[in-house]
Amino acid sequence: MKRFALAGNPNCGKTTLFNSLTGSSAYVGNWPGVTVEKKEGKYKKCKEPISIVDLPGIYSLSPYTSEEVISRNFIIDEKPDCVINVVDSTNLERNLYLTTQLLEIDVPVIIALNMMDAVRKSGDSIDPLLLEKEVGVPVVCISASKEEGLDELMDRAYEESLKKREATSVLLNSNLSHLINDIELSFKGLKVDNPLFHAIKLVENDEIEIKNHPQLLGVVDEFKKYFKDETFGSDLEAIVADSRYKHITSNFSKAKKKNNNEMAKTFSTSDKIDRVLTNKWLGIPIFLLLLFFIFHMTFSENLFFLGGLFTNIAPSFEGTFFEGLFWTSSGINSIGVVFANLLGSTTSWLTDVVQGWLSTSPQWVSGLITNGMLGGVFAVLSFLPQILLLFLFFSILEDSGYMARVAFILDRLFRRFGLTGRSLMPMIMGFGCSIPAMINTRTLSNDNEKIATIRVIPFFSCGAKLPILTAVAGGIIQQFGIGNADIITFSMYLLGMGVAIVSILLMRATIMRGAVPPFIMELPAYHLPQFKALMIHLWDKAKHFLKKAFTVILAFTIIIWFFSHFSFSWQYLEDVDIDKSILAGLGQLVTPLFTPLGFGSQLSSFSWVFVVAAFSGLIAKENVISTFGVLGACVAGSIIDVGGDGGIAAVATMIQGTGITIPALISFIAFNLLTIPCFAAVVTAKAELPKNKFVGTLVFWLATSYIVSSMIYLIGSWWWTSFIFLGAFGIGVFAIYLVNKHRDNKQRTAK
Ligand code: GDP
Ligand code: MG
Repeated sequence: MKRFALAGNPNCGKTTLFNSLTGSSAYVGNWPGVTVEKKEGKYKKCKEPISIVDLPGIYSLSPYTSEEVISRNFIIDEKPDCVINVVDSTNLERNLYLTTQLLEIDVPVIIALNMMDAVRKSGDSIDPLLLEKEVGVPVVCISASKEEGLDELMDRAYEESLKKREATSVLLNSNLSHLINDIELSFKGLKVDNPLFHAIKLVENDEIEIKNHPQLLGVVDEFKKYFKDETFGSDLEAIVADSRYKHITSNFSKAKKKNNNEMAKTFSTSDKIDRVLTNKWLGIPIFLLLLFFIFHMTFSENLFFLGGLFTNIAPSFEGTFFEGLFWTSSGINSIGVVFANLLGSTTSWLTDVVQGWLSTSPQWVSGLITNGMLGGVFAVLSFLPQILLLFLFFSILEDSGYMARVAFILDRLFRRFGLTGRSLMPMIMGFGCSIPAMINTRTLSNDNEKIATIRVIPFFSCGAKLPILTAVAGGIIQQFGIGNADIITFSMYLLGMGVAIVSILLMRATIMRGAVPPFIMELPAYHLPQFKALMIHLWDKAKHFLKKAFTVILAFTIIIWFFSHFSFSWQYLEDVDIDKSILAGLGQLVTPLFTPLGFGSQLSSFSWVFVVAAFSGLIAKENVISTFGVLGACVAGSIIDVGGDGGIAAVATMIQGTGITIPALISFIAFNLLTIPCFAAVVTAKAELPKNKFVGTLVFWLATSYIVSSMIYLIGSWWWTSFIFLGAFGIGVFAIYLVNKHRDNKQRTAK
């Protein structure tokens, strides 16, 4: 089968094109560096099926980053039948820099001028025929997101793939041409593939090339002796880059016609927006406000605090279908809560129906099915609408280009903590799922930065942890009658981010000292998020969640039900007797360890349930709530029944059953948020971290969650304990200061 590769700068639309051509749903994000690994898919509309490979975005073929190495090796070693060079036409000159290098490889190349819709909108135009004549390979105008020009692109790419193309270089017009020709000849003599490419890379002082062909380096050095450029002296790397750009501006830029007035106008609006959004003082408060707005729209039961206003109209609807769905005594429900209510009434109706069917079956059968399976899975499922809504908001922020601005704003702050804004992108991805986020840290060139980033990624609360936050927050509101779901969940997200920043500071001050690498990021253009891309995101998320709910989580709820309904002598136990079960026995062994955190031995009865739930989260974080779902039914049967279904009711039952306090509940959320993440994330971390850093990372997660949670519980219960923590913290900081000073002095004397 023929194989075409998509190559281009970061953020030029390769993945969008890949998705349109192959019908897949790979991750598209409006910031550079989203695709880190190459992906493969099939295109079926040509004469024969064609395999399409989406390569990571790169600015050049020099091996500065791992993406560049991946893409370069793929094109050189795997020799695709055609390279489709995707070009962001709104940024033509800069994108053609990579093109000049692709042309130097003996492989068919075709240029896809992407984002032509945006170019047209700005009033500019590009003449593809003129560009084609200048560059010497076919040029096709497309819009990947509007799916325009794709058939023509693929037809012409197919034609190209039937021919052979000899490498050419724009550098052959420069005063380096003799040197390049000489080395190319030597490479030809050595029977090296792609002699022109290798010759130019050697002239460019390319690390890989020097390692592979040291014998030819003499020729370059000899040349340098008598060659002097006016501006760059004998810095050949700079001369090569300069010649490429010169050729682009004098020969290729002709193809572009700018509409000056329009251009100035669009530039200034985007600029004006950025002056506010990325403002030194306003940037972070605006980000936090936006974030709060999102949480408010998703979790609040008192939308815009309009509860009071509404009490006048409310009585006329009392008792109708609308009451409870759209509002409660506390106020108007947010969109997220409305959807959650709808799903909640559906699942509780389903549970009733199943319970009806099973009314004549043995008690353990109906217990296993309604409490064990449905109770557990529905407890988690009840949060799906809110998870999806939160993701919709995040995707909009991301696709519009705003998240890239956030990375830019936070770079200023992060630099002080010893990280760059680059490491912020994987962290923000962590809000979705830690696994792709950890894989994305491959784009970080500095090892220390990479390790520190992987360690704090789990602190950015992922989708699977959301049910824990929401259910416990809901339980607190229901049982203690205080707080707001949006404020509690929002503060827990902030807590995670705060702990991440403090941990990075401490790591950089102790075991990871060193300079901060430079970070240059271009801000992608703002644009309206694409409906289709958003829906692909959401559908993916929903599919993944449902699949998990009916596999891993379902299996685990059955296991939890089983071990909570059998004693060590393998006797079946009624719901009321779960305190004598295997699960209770095992849980009680470790429960005392969690006493300083508030959910250990001090609980009046069923003291082990919170600990067991936290442990079940090590398999998948959703299990924490499904475990409550399973056990809640038993606790409710034996002590009290708070009524209702789903995760919130399960937690409310646990609160009544165990007598746990508010500080201990907050400490419980914090523990689950900060401790060792789910099994899949741990495996990913192990693969991405250097070998000797894995165990330390596990210890770091355990220690951080233990310390922060006990602080929350102790300070929340007895405020004066804060002085003890402050004191310990002060002594710690002072000790670090002394050690570092001592080390610096020693280094200075050593010099
Ligand atoms: P990649 O980094 O090269 O894989 O780029 P992506 O496919 O992730 O796209 C980057 C951004 O450009 C996304 O926000 C896309 O929605 C947007 N984009 C992609 N193709 C087009 C296009 O043809 N027109 C416009 N206006 N935007 C596009
Ligand atoms: Mg991509």
